[in-house]
Amino acid sequence: MEHSSFFDFLNNELINYNSNGERISLPLSIQLELTSLCNMHCKYCYNSSGVKDNNELSIDQWIIVLNKIIERGGIFQCTFSGGEPLLFPNLNILMDTLYKDGTSFNLITNGCLLNEEQVIKFKKYNWNWIQISLDSQFAEIHDYVRGYAGGWEKAVNGIKILVANNMPVHVACVVTKYNLYNLKEFVSFCKSIGVTKIRFSEVLFSGRACDGKLLLTAEEKDYFKKTVDELMLYNKKEQDIKIEIATSYREQLTNLKKYAPLSIIIRPNGDVKIDCVLPFVIGNVKEESLSKIWQNVYSFYDSKIKNEYIDNALQGEIKVKNNFDPDIVFKKEVK
Ligand code: SF4
Repeated sequence: MEHSSFFDFLNNELINYNSNGERISLPLSIQLELTSLCNMHCKYCYNSSGVKDNNELSIDQWIIVLNKIIERGGIFQCTFSGGEPLLFPNLNILMDTLYKDGTSFNLITNGCLLNEEQVIKFKKYNWNWIQISLDSQFAEIHDYVRGYAGGWEKAVNGIKILVANNMPVHVACVVTKYNLYNLKEFVSFCKSIGVTKIRFSEVLFSGRACDGKLLLTAEEKDYFKKTVDELMLYNKKEQDIKIEIATSYREQLTNLKKYAPLSIIIRPNGDVKIDCVLPFVIGNVKEESLSKIWQNVYSFYDSKIKNEYIDNALQGEIKVKNNFDPDIVFKKEVK
């Protein structure tokens, strides 16, 4: 079966319905954006993170949300992100709550706060991956785009600690004009510190990147794609490091039109979104349970407002800038 038709089958026939032909009661995976607080101030942050939002859920509120999810059958996979998730106090309490229910974890971090003690605490959990952001082999480039002096040294140290503890770390590198022409040397540097996987991505048109200053030009995009294709081919033969390219903004939008969602994002204030590139909120976990909100996801998926937004965005006529303008609260459309 072709990849896309298998995905269609999985999505439409298996995933979204249970054996009684009813919609499944929860997504397969969730992403918890635990805080908007971040110790960095990346010029392209898709979430505009930096300062803590006054309405953020407390640890007690998160535990209530997670316990309700567990009561309804739980979820397979949880990604912890932010802002910087390691700035969330008592992260391990949330992890323990889900771990006891058999959930596996991913972590998206800038790596600056990782230390030996923290990593040893992490070792007991079931990890799929831990992603650390690193944009260059040159400290001055990384620190400049990420708005944090000394961040490169701390991130590299965090990677080394994870590698030494056999944790499944990979590097995420955001490509801008500042690092575009050094990607091959960057891969060599990553190999030298024990990284076995790198994921390159373009700047996402969202949050602080909506000023467009760091988006690649058409020519730069071609160069980026060609270079990463070469790196993928070369390193596939060598087999010592895996190179990936993240789904582009356009591909993400296209997928959001084609496939019903399987996962969900809960933002620091409890707002629920189906992904990070659309500006629509479909509920808030402070007001109703995630399983109830999830039932709304299908009307959102089929809605005119979402599909028109995607069409406009794909044609370059974006009227709403995600995580820049205020979010749009989705209300069921009357047909
Ligand atoms: S991209 Fe990540 S590290 Fe940078 S400001 Fe945003 S949340 Fe922080």
